[in-house]
Amino acid sequence: MASSKAHHATGWAAGVIAAALAVRHGMHGPFYLWTWLAFAAGLAGATAPDWLEVAWWSRKKRLWITHRTATHWGIGWLAALFFSWQAMTHHPVAAVAFGFACGGVMHLLADWPNPLGVPWIIGRHSLNLWNSGHCDLIVVAASWAGAWFVLSHVWMHGATPLVFLRQLL
Ligand SMILES: [Zn+2]
Repeated sequence: MASSKAHHATGWAAGVIAAALAVRHGMHGPFYLWTWLAFAAGLAGATAPDWLEVAWWSRKKRLWITHRTATHWGIGWLAALFFSWQAMTHHPVAAVAFGFACGGVMHLLADWPNPLGVPWIIGRHSLNLWNSGHCDLIVVAASWAGAWFVLSHVWMHGATPLVFLRQLL
C-alpha cells in the first residue's frame, strides 16, 4: 500500500470530491447534512480497502482476506461509485455510499503505482513507478490537484470553490 499517511491525506481529497459531486447532484438536506456525511464517508473509504481485509474484530487482527485482493477490486469499487451515484436520485442516503466509493477508488489509485499493483479487473496491474511509502508527496499532491479540478469544474458557472466553501460554512 501507499503508506497509511498517504491514504489518509488522499482521503481528505476524496471526501472533498465526494461532497462537491453530491452537492452538484442536489444533495443538500438540513445543514448540508448529506454533504458532510459524503465527506466523512470519503475519508473512511480511502482507508477501507486496507482495514476491510484485517479481521479487526478479532484479537490477533490477522488478515482474513489476502492483501490487495477482494477489497482492492477495481470493478467492485467503480460499480459502487456508479450505482450509488444513480441511487442518489432516489434517496440522499446514497450520498454516503457514494462518498465511501469515492474514497475506495482514491485508495486504489494511490496503491496503483506500487510494484504490487491493484487488481482492477482480473490479475494485478501495477504502474511500477515507485515502492510503497515512496513519493507519497506526489500521490497526495495529485489527489489534491484532482479535488481542485473537480471543485472548479463543478462550479464552472461563475462560482468558484471559495464560494462553495462559504456556502458550506
Ligand atoms: Zn491498499
